Amino acid sequence: MKGIKRVVKIGAVELGGNNPVVVQSMTKTKTRDVRATVNQIRRLERAGCELVRLAVVDRKDGAVLSRIKKSVGIPIIADIHFDYRLALQAIDAGVDKIRINPGNIGEPWKVTEVIKKAKDTNTPIRIGVNSGSLPRKILKKHKHPTSAAIVETVDDALTIFRKNNFRDIVISAKGADVKTTIAVYKKLNEKFDYPLHIGLTEAGLPFRGGMRSAVGLGILLNQGIGDTIRVSLTADPVMEVVAAYEILDSLGLRRHNPVLISCPTCGRCDVKLAKIAHTVEQRLKHYKTFMKVAVMGCVVNGPGEAREADFGIACGKKIGLIFAKGKEIKRVKEECIVSELFEVIDENIDNR
Ligand code: SF4
Repeated sequence: MKGIKRVVKIGAVELGGNNPVVVQSMTKTKTRDVRATVNQIRRLERAGCELVRLAVVDRKDGAVLSRIKKSVGIPIIADIHFDYRLALQAIDAGVDKIRINPGNIGEPWKVTEVIKKAKDTNTPIRIGVNSGSLPRKILKKHKHPTSAAIVETVDDALTIFRKNNFRDIVISAKGADVKTTIAVYKKLNEKFDYPLHIGLTEAGLPFRGGMRSAVGLGILLNQGIGDTIRVSLTADPVMEVVAAYEILDSLGLRRHNPVLISCPTCGRCDVKLAKIAHTVEQRLKHYKTFMKVAVMGCVVNGPGEAREADFGIACGKKIGLIFAKGKEIKRVKEECIVSELFEVIDENIDNR
């Protein structure tokens, strides 16, 4: 299986090669609203977002890109549909990458214009193909937007890039459902050595979208497929970043902010564990160091799990055992469990 991809540089961020999977998101503000857009990007940056995409729908959006770029610390990507002139404007504004769907840009000469400018300025291009916008001739041949139809569309779209000897490319191609998308990316991974941007289209509200993304992206990532991910959610984009890191962390691919593990509770639990877990989660948001914190409901299975984590609590009848780095540190009263846990955490780590 073809795994390692060629390296494509987006600003200071490298995709492909042996680089870690990069987390990205997309702003949900009107791009021309510079203040709102910059504020949102800064919040994304603080959450660990490494690349951010902005919709450029007209020249007014294009006109503010350089101001936005100067005000934020992560590379920005201009997302363009239909009008090749917006792509030229975005490249002139100094964006770090553009995303186009060659299928809706129109005549080949327009795509060529974009490629030429991108080449002159070393601006990478993501080619994004969606099952909803496949060319008629391909749909006619395959009858439906199957994975083969989508991959053929990508291959066709690449022809003009090959002609222009342009290889600073990232590919994304999404099916209408999770299984088709998985099949598409497996084929793309076999066929091309360009880095792959993986994600699902219209994943949904946070719960459903998060689940679907975890399944779809998790299966791909576990097979070594995917160089950058976006978890699309109908929600604050910061949640997309949090969800992306959860997926990557669960596969051991990235370590980022603290991870909370809590038991589901059962009849053995004698404390309000959900409340304790929520409070611990809220307080952990102030920590930037990676650590695993376990909050367990009883002294039957709790100590084992709590020992495995960096820090842990195993609750009992009106008491809690606090663990740090595999050792039981102290036994505390139920009402002091959270504050005592954080006292231990603070004694053991130095950077917040
Ligand atoms: S840790 Fe204890 S309370 Fe929690 S689910 Fe396991 S047995 Fe039940």
